[in-house]
Amino acid sequence: MSDRLKEACGVFAVHGNGFEAARLTYHGLWALQHRGQESSGIAASDGTSIRVHKGQGLVAHVYSEPTLAGLPGHLAIGHNRYSTSGGPSGIHAQPVLKAGAGFELAFAHNGNLPSFHRLKRMLAAHRIDTDGKNDSECMAEAIALFLSEGKSLEEAIVEVYPLFTGVFSFVAMTRDSLAAVKDRCGIRPLAIGKLDESCHVISSETCALDTVGASFVREIEPGEMVVVDGDGPRWTRIVEGRPRLDVFELVYFARPDSILAGRRVNEVRRKLGTQLAAEWRADADLVVPVPDSAIPSALGYASATGIPFDNGLIKNRYIHRTFIRPDPHLRRWGVRMKLNPLPEAVAGKRVVLIDDSIVRGTTVAEIIRIIRRAGAREVHVGIASPPVVFPDFYGIDTPLQEELIAFRMGDNGILEHIGADSLHYLSRDGLIRAVGVPEEQLCTSIFTGDYPIDIGERASKVSGLPRRPRKPKAASGGL
Ligand code: 5GP
Ligand code: MG
Repeated sequence: MSDRLKEACGVFAVHGNGFEAARLTYHGLWALQHRGQESSGIAASDGTSIRVHKGQGLVAHVYSEPTLAGLPGHLAIGHNRYSTSGGPSGIHAQPVLKAGAGFELAFAHNGNLPSFHRLKRMLAAHRIDTDGKNDSECMAEAIALFLSEGKSLEEAIVEVYPLFTGVFSFVAMTRDSLAAVKDRCGIRPLAIGKLDESCHVISSETCALDTVGASFVREIEPGEMVVVDGDGPRWTRIVEGRPRLDVFELVYFARPDSILAGRRVNEVRRKLGTQLAAEWRADADLVVPVPDSAIPSALGYASATGIPFDNGLIKNRYIHRTFIRPDPHLRRWGVRMKLNPLPEAVAGKRVVLIDDSIVRGTTVAEIIRIIRRAGAREVHVGIASPPVVFPDFYGIDTPLQEELIAFRMGDNGILEHIGADSLHYLSRDGLIRAVGVPEEQLCTSIFTGDYPIDIGERASKVSGLPRRPRKPKAASGGL
């Protein structure tokens, strides 16, 4: 189905003379595993050629000592791919590799171009076949086209940037040069750090900088490119930035130990819980988090309300995110594989269950069943974000709008469907207050339908879009 390629991936890159870039990248990808579990890949260069290794599954399974030994060099980029309803398809694993007369290119993309007709038309005009190629592959083709004309990596990127009409935080490398680039809204995160003056590291999230011992330098700004080669980093502002970080990175996606928009994600989530408590105080005996992502919000909620906090659910750490299972029965089964209740903690109690979000409603419904079976007397649900009523086209997979439970039904319908005694979402204003970033600098599209980057023909499949003034000029990037 055509909606299958929606990826909120993780990218990582290293340029450092005298460093084993692929090995550092491997550790970085390990720290970014939460951003994608479908496939992983690393491309590395020793200055003379680019070698690549990719495979399906987790970082732990894809690489071995011999594969890392086969990726020598001081320059590497890596990618963890996250994909959902299309099922596992190794053919789209990244980095994408392109080679032509006198150049090699590796490209790894976090984001999604909801519509890329102009890019395809440009490629077709140059007789480049785009059949069966996804957005990332077409982006790589476009950069390669200009490299084949003798342009440098940074020149090629500046040239094609206006055709990249969508969301991207990407890394690209030739044999001797590394570039990291954000779209003009900076919807997906990307940061730079360094191990020392001669070794620079790029990462989707700052948590992976910590893992490899790199110090955080700064987040790459929207519309900006940084290039690292023998001469050290060079910054280029390609277009004027209009920061719109995806608020869902803060709510759910990013690791709590990462820094996004200058804020520690854990702290933001704690404040989401505090804010939820300011809006709704449950009459209950116990606060139970849905592990792991809702733990900081549940702690915030418990300390603000004074209701005791306890682990009522234990998570099997070796089962990965269940959201990605396409079949509803499997998804339900997945919840039970992942979470087991502690009956002594919940029996006879009026429980407030805190989760970060409800998307389809499958997870929370199953958890409520689990907690009731373990003896809970009442189950009240607090959600540390507003109802998700619009699909995402920018790289986190929230499904077709008809699958979103808050789109399909009103509060009473949801309540009945999930089997809770009561249900409270954080308000939109509360979300913004807790995050502490002005709303106009955030992408809140899944809650509001305000899509800062044109979703093109996808808009026809979305109901209830707010009216807003048309339309950003194509000449400034078509974004
Ligand atoms: P639901 O079962 O309602 O579709 O999914 C909601 C649950 O999945 C929540 O517990 C939340 O932590 C998690 N979740 C929300 N959005 C995403 C997402 O984009 N990807 C993944 N893997 N999980 C998500
Ligand atoms: Mg969850």
